[in-house]
Amino acid sequence: MTILRKTALNKQQSAKRVPWAGALAASVILLPGILGGNPALAQKAERDTLTYGELIKRTDNGEVAKVELDEAENIAKVYLKGQKPDSPIQVRLLEQNTELINKLKENNVDFAEVSSANSRAAVGLLINLMWILPLVALMLLFLRRSTNASSQAMNFGKSRARFQMEAKTGVKFEDVAGVEEAKEELQEVVTFLKQPERFTAVGARIPKGVLLIGPPGTGKTLLAKAIAGEAGVPFFSISGSEFVEMFVGVGASRVRDLFKKAKENAPCLIFIDEIDAVGRQRGAGIGGGNDEREQTLNQLLTEMDGFEGNTGIIIIAATNRPDVLDAALLRPGRFDRQVMVDAPDLKGRLEILKVHARNKKIDPSVSLDAIARRTPGFTGADLANLLNEAAILTARRRKDAVTILEIDDAVDRVVAGMEGTALVDSKSKRLIAYHEVGHALIGTLLKDHDPVQKVTLIPRGQALGLTWFTPNEEQGLISRSQIKARIAATLGGRAAEEIVFGKPEVTTGAGDDLQKVTNMARQMVTRFGMSDLGPLSLENQQSGEVFLGRDWMNKSEYSEEIASKIDMQVREIISHCYQTAKEILQENRIALERLVDLLSDQETIEGELFRKIVAEHTQVTDEKLAVSH
Ligand code: ADP
Ligand code: MG
Ligand code: ZN
Repeated sequence: MTILRKTALNKQQSAKRVPWAGALAASVILLPGILGGNPALAQKAERDTLTYGELIKRTDNGEVAKVELDEAENIAKVYLKGQKPDSPIQVRLLEQNTELINKLKENNVDFAEVSSANSRAAVGLLINLMWILPLVALMLLFLRRSTNASSQAMNFGKSRARFQMEAKTGVKFEDVAGVEEAKEELQEVVTFLKQPERFTAVGARIPKGVLLIGPPGTGKTLLAKAIAGEAGVPFFSISGSEFVEMFVGVGASRVRDLFKKAKENAPCLIFIDEIDAVGRQRGAGIGGGNDEREQTLNQLLTEMDGFEGNTGIIIIAATNRPDVLDAALLRPGRFDRQVMVDAPDLKGRLEILKVHARNKKIDPSVSLDAIARRTPGFTGADLANLLNEAAILTARRRKDAVTILEIDDAVDRVVAGMEGTALVDSKSKRLIAYHEVGHALIGTLLKDHDPVQKVTLIPRGQALGLTWFTPNEEQGLISRSQIKARIAATLGGRAAEEIVFGKPEVTTGAGDDLQKVTNMARQMVTRFGMSDLGPLSLENQQSGEVFLGRDWMNKSEYSEEIASKIDMQVREIISHCYQTAKEILQENRIALERLVDLLSDQETIEGELFRKIVAEHTQVTDEKLAVSH
């Protein structure tokens, strides 16, 4: 007890010296001292009583009924005759109390030894412990937790079998649409897994790995699942990023573990999603690369070499960045088959829409073909999302089946973001109307531009107004005059603002347009050889992506002189297109005003009506303007 109390005292002192540091400890540990009660203090309170001599005298007089001797604290509790038993008088004893004891015996006084101090000490200790125990428990908890964490970290490679094995993926090839070539190639993999004898009999080596390459959302993961589903073999899937952990070597041990498990379950399929997370070019990037990643990749390469071609394990990997992959991964004997999974074309989109429309209630009047036409560039995931959004809208509108209205709204939403509420009539609304009609009018009047689908003043996403163009069917190649037409139409917004409101009134609304325009013009010069500089490619497509695992010293491949020439060419293209845009708008001012009035009033003009009005007010009938130069 004393020891404990001393600690408390010390804590208090140290708390005084460093008030902020000790404050907590002091308050926690001091509390028991107050609760437990200090015997010395308690004594003083009751101390008005008898002296030793008086006690002996009273004993002789026969006034004493009972005495309790407390040797430990050297006091006696004296109960006088005719006194309440709960308030004894305390008497300080001497070192040796033989005389008192003799007297008590003589006078037949009841006396006994008690050790109140000890019991009090016990209580004090208990109370102190009550405070200490939670503290200790808390400390143990922390300790346990930290050891847990570290042991967990050490076990990453082994115990956490993150690669789930799916015996049946439930996905079939018929669930994947629009990627026919890829499906055909992969059909063969299924045969490898199902009847390897057919190939080994004639001495053919079964490929070990297939690499699926394509933009996100085109169905790579889905395809891998479909292969496993069709072949009816177990499917181990792991994402490349799951190999990469806190400690060097963990990824490598995971690779070993994965292959060990796979061998036990052969024939089976290993699917490594997003393999670029580990399969990146080694030794690149700032500081010579990443040890952990390289070790993991080395292990992967070793494992892929380590098993025979006919053990019945086929590895499928997927990536959307084949350009950053290490060359060693791509050599024959590893991922020797590379299957492109591209964004679907019109027919592909229609097929995908059919797959995803299977489990939705779609009004018979809806033409999936029309949707496919409206959605060039959409991937499988986009289309799935589109139909889902449309279904959600249908439910919200309490309709029984998805109609073309919901699908149109869903397309707008997927492409341009959430719809806002239209502005009230104001000067800025009028300015936005001029801006949008500027885009649409130029787009309509230039021969090489895609037709206007609709113009609207209803904000969506970041945009305050929008002009939608229907993209030409499957734009694989774009000509120089098409790009220039696009630049002119994109500048049409700013041009209209300037013509109508004057140079000082133009707004920041065109910022995005200008960025797009500059980009297009720059690419014309540096990548497509469409300027006076001639057919030169002046920019590496993948330059500057140091953080994606590229070397960082391949910046510019041209001289200062060429750089300034590029800038001049870019400026020339843009200013020429801007000039064209302004001229077209000035010549068609009547149409512009008429369309702005209509747009301000109705907030949306469909393409048909737009073209009709333009035709009524413009002199150019069949031979539309082309951006010359
Ligand atoms: P990724 O190529 O990025 O791996 P996923 O395979 O994960 O794309 O595709 C995501 C979702 O998009 C799929 O679950 C599926 O619903 C849909 N999807 C993508 N491509 C197709 C396709 N070709 N056919 C049918 N659905 C597709
Ligand atoms: Mg995927
Ligand atoms: Zn604009």
